[in-house]
Amino acid sequence: MLKKLRHFNDFIKDWYNPVEYDLKLYYKILNEINDIKLKTLSDNELKTVSRKLKQRAQKGESLDKLLAEAFALVREASYRVLGLYPFDVQIIAGIALHKGKIIEMQTGEGKTLAAVSPAYLNALSGKGVHILTVNDYLAFRDAQWMGPVYEFLGLRAGYIREGMSIEKRQKAYSCDVAYVTAKESGFDYLRDFLCADRKNVAQRRFNYAIVDEADSILIDEARIPLVIAGNVKTEAEGLARFHNIVKGLEADADYEIDQYERNIYLTDAGLMRVEEMLGSGNLYDIKNLELLTKINCALHAEKLLYKDKDYIVRNGRIEIIDEFTGRIADKRHWPDNLQGAVEAKEGIASDYKGKIMGSVALQHFLSLYPRLCGMTGTAKRAAGELNELYGLEVLVIPTNKPCIRIDHEDVIFTDIHTKNKAIIKEVIRANKRCQPVLIGTASIEESENLANDLNKAGVECRILNAKNDAMEAKIIAKAGELGAVTVSTNMAGRGIDIKLGGMNEEQRDGVAALGGLYVIGTSRHESSRIDDQLRGRAGRQGDPGESRFFISFEDGLIKKYGIIRTTDIHDYRAKQQDPHEDASIKRAIEKGQRMVEGYNSDVRRQLWKYSYIIEQQRRIIHNRRQEILHDRIVPELLSVKAADRYYSLMAEVGEEALRKAEKQITLYCINKCWADYLDYISYVQEGIHLVSLGNKNPLDEFHRIAAEAYENMVREIDSEIVNIFNSAEADENGVLLDDKILKGPSSTWTYLMNDSPDQFSRLPYLVKAASTYIKGTLFSVRSIFKK
Ligand code: ADP
Repeated sequence: MLKKLRHFNDFIKDWYNPVEYDLKLYYKILNEINDIKLKTLSDNELKTVSRKLKQRAQKGESLDKLLAEAFALVREASYRVLGLYPFDVQIIAGIALHKGKIIEMQTGEGKTLAAVSPAYLNALSGKGVHILTVNDYLAFRDAQWMGPVYEFLGLRAGYIREGMSIEKRQKAYSCDVAYVTAKESGFDYLRDFLCADRKNVAQRRFNYAIVDEADSILIDEARIPLVIAGNVKTEAEGLARFHNIVKGLEADADYEIDQYERNIYLTDAGLMRVEEMLGSGNLYDIKNLELLTKINCALHAEKLLYKDKDYIVRNGRIEIIDEFTGRIADKRHWPDNLQGAVEAKEGIASDYKGKIMGSVALQHFLSLYPRLCGMTGTAKRAAGELNELYGLEVLVIPTNKPCIRIDHEDVIFTDIHTKNKAIIKEVIRANKRCQPVLIGTASIEESENLANDLNKAGVECRILNAKNDAMEAKIIAKAGELGAVTVSTNMAGRGIDIKLGGMNEEQRDGVAALGGLYVIGTSRHESSRIDDQLRGRAGRQGDPGESRFFISFEDGLIKKYGIIRTTDIHDYRAKQQDPHEDASIKRAIEKGQRMVEGYNSDVRRQLWKYSYIIEQQRRIIHNRRQEILHDRIVPELLSVKAADRYYSLMAEVGEEALRKAEKQITLYCINKCWADYLDYISYVQEGIHLVSLGNKNPLDEFHRIAAEAYENMVREIDSEIVNIFNSAEADENGVLLDDKILKGPSSTWTYLMNDSPDQFSRLPYLVKAASTYIKGTLFSVRSIFKK
């Protein structure tokens, strides 16, 4: 069934899982590195060796030739500066990173240090290296921790974090090695696109990046769009009209809502009513896409989003409430049109509207690095996708010491209530022996409830919820202490190492004797990689450890995808107090998780097909603009298209002033027309899934519309440049231009289009584009379980 639905090529790609285990080549290079003896050299002599390597690299000698010496040098420097002598497996990992691989290296094996050698080697050329961390705290920590090694060898390291001034950013990016989150680097890239003056550009050209926690950034978060927006004045948009139309529609008769309350559809009758009120004719006609999108957003805003549950209105603004935490989500926006629709519903009139000036999905942003590699504890299972999307291969690095963690079988219950009781009982059991326990939950709400229940049962626990990176690092580092119980969402405290005994080294052996850290998962995640990451928190560097997942038929994953049939649940009701021992259930859950993974990966693939064309266009526009900004291209449009005025002004203000004016106007027009283009495309994206109802292929239609709109935009840029030039005044100082042209937008802000974990279901903009496809696949997932 599934086979029929999926494209043959996709199948081949899934089947070809590019994971490499063969380390022969790496051991050969390792031996060369081990043969270089540097122990007897003084610090100064080591620095001289480093200087010479740098000169050779800058003269153009290939980095592969310098590898052995560079790695040996870093190894020795690391020992002298940090007291850490990189293990052979860390050196092998470093070689693979230099070769552009994604390495799978277990938690606690020392990825931070492993990245230093390839970063050093690739920075020798002077072109800069980025190490992309998962959060600001780790960018800061790793730069502070590893910085002295680079400095010892005559290179500079810096870090970037949110809120830093432009001067500090420039300084950090000018360092040989910059530690920064992928998100901040992406935002700087977008900000640079709006710079009207070269002096304010933050980043250099990209060269080489090492991505930490690579699977989560390259796969799980890859499709999240980074957005930069600016305030622009708007005319009355008339969104109230759409609000008024949908307000009068009646449930069931005019529209239907799906069972998860996440999608809403007009019925045939509803459609006719709306068409009549709009006087638009067939709303599904491609020429009505914008109207259709506005109606859909108005419907969504009116019928699916509730004030004081999904959002609040404060100081004349809509502020979104996070579904999981119940707190106000800072700087979160819905996609533009939905945001506008909610504003219309609440009658918030605004003269200014945040307009998207630029955006890039993390996935496409990362592809801009000419050389990319990454490291993570869980890459194997994502190997096919990493290869397909980025052309990257996975290499599995063996652990330095064998892993002796015991991964217990899942314990499965019928309902959540019994499951939770069992979890509490198990925590109490471990806690009585003082064995440290880390419980990984699916949401902040679940963490809080569980912590409450544990407290009621007399177990003290610490709770972590991915809100404050630095504080979390401190808490999670203590999770290995004797008797510690820590409740955490899966994502909290990522990248932080849990040592047995925590900071109290004397406790280490005692905790090891109790079996080490005991990790409990309260449910299976949609991606088994996330489960593996949780398990991987125990049993680091050959330590003892245990892991166990508790599952119930009522868990989100199992219910959402119908993994266990409801009839089965009735059969099992009778013995619901006990865990299920039935092997077929275990297999079904395991298989279900694989199917969901495949399905999510198909959705990502599909979304990629939509974004690819826009991405190609963005690259062309972005590159052209930055070439002009840096005076590598001189635009020469006006002397041809506005020749009369151009040559008459030439006598008055001189050629240089004209060139300067043309450059500023061109930079401005590119930004303006691109922003208008994105605006238009967002309408198209939000409505395109509906063309399938008119028997057209949405993807083909989307490509056709985007290609045509792009051509128009390119022409529009030229004509705007000519118009602005022709209407600008001039005096003896040159052509007089507006501040907005000379300085760029007065205020901009950046945000992630959606930072909620459940992006698919909350973002109609993304989901709808692929909805026809999803329904097909979902059906097949279900039907397989029905058999
Ligand atoms: P990972 O990111 O792989 O989970 P980290 O980079 O956080 O691991 O390092 C885990 C721990 O291992 C750190 O406490 C670090 O000091 C230690 N470590 C790393 N490399 C070495 C080494 N070569 N010798 C001794 N300890 C090391």
